[in-house]
Amino acid sequence: MSALTPESPVAAKVFPSPNHGERKDGRRPSMLILHYTGMPDEGEALQWLCNPVSQVSAHYFVFGDGRVLQLVPESRRAWHAGLSSWDGETDINSCSIGIEIANPGHPGGLPPFPDVQIESVAALSRDIVTRWRIPATRVLGHSDVAPGRKVDPGELFPWKTLHEAGVGHWVAPTATSDGRFFSRGDQGMPIEALQAMLVMYGYGLKINGAFDEDTEKVVAAFQRHFRPERVDGVADASTIMTLRNLIAARPQAAA
Ligand SMILES: [Zn+2]
Repeated sequence: MSALTPESPVAAKVFPSPNHGERKDGRRPSMLILHYTGMPDEGEALQWLCNPVSQVSAHYFVFGDGRVLQLVPESRRAWHAGLSSWDGETDINSCSIGIEIANPGHPGGLPPFPDVQIESVAALSRDIVTRWRIPATRVLGHSDVAPGRKVDPGELFPWKTLHEAGVGHWVAPTATSDGRFFSRGDQGMPIEALQAMLVMYGYGLKINGAFDEDTEKVVAAFQRHFRPERVDGVADASTIMTLRNLIAARPQAAA
């Protein structure tokens, strides 16, 4: 990005943030992480991401009306993911591009994302994953990579719409129903199998056969992204089937 020209044609303007550094070990972006700002005022959210005091930023910012600004050059390491993990990688900032979507989030009563805003997010994401060849399974929410700390972009974020626009991995969730489930305090082989599946998909979790607090948070993060009808951290049949189907439908990674 030059001082004036954004790298994505979807972005209208450059609005530079000083909050970035060098990508470690010369890494290139191989993930796309979506966030909501979680602030009631989008102008204030933008100013915060550009304030040196905040030590936070993202590469792009999407307003409620669909306008897009570029804050950080794609070649640089923006500070959006924090302490995170995916597929064994813990320096997510060094290998990702981050998009902040203006939305008050859970603290603001979780208002829905306007269609025009989602159209911009989809177009911007498609442009980024195409240019950087980011695999569909590596388009994720902040909650996926930091399930213990973060809940954004939240269960109202329309991952299905994005998938239909060619961005991200998604399968239709299996219908919820009553029946057998696993939850906090359960132990044994089925829990180990569940944890192994979550880790296989990419989530950062210890496989210890105990449905502990970490497991509950990862299950809730999974639900938020892939089975948003009920986000309760309880591994019911629908959650487990959806996870299984998602793994089975994974596009083969390019060699
Ligand atoms: Zn976030």
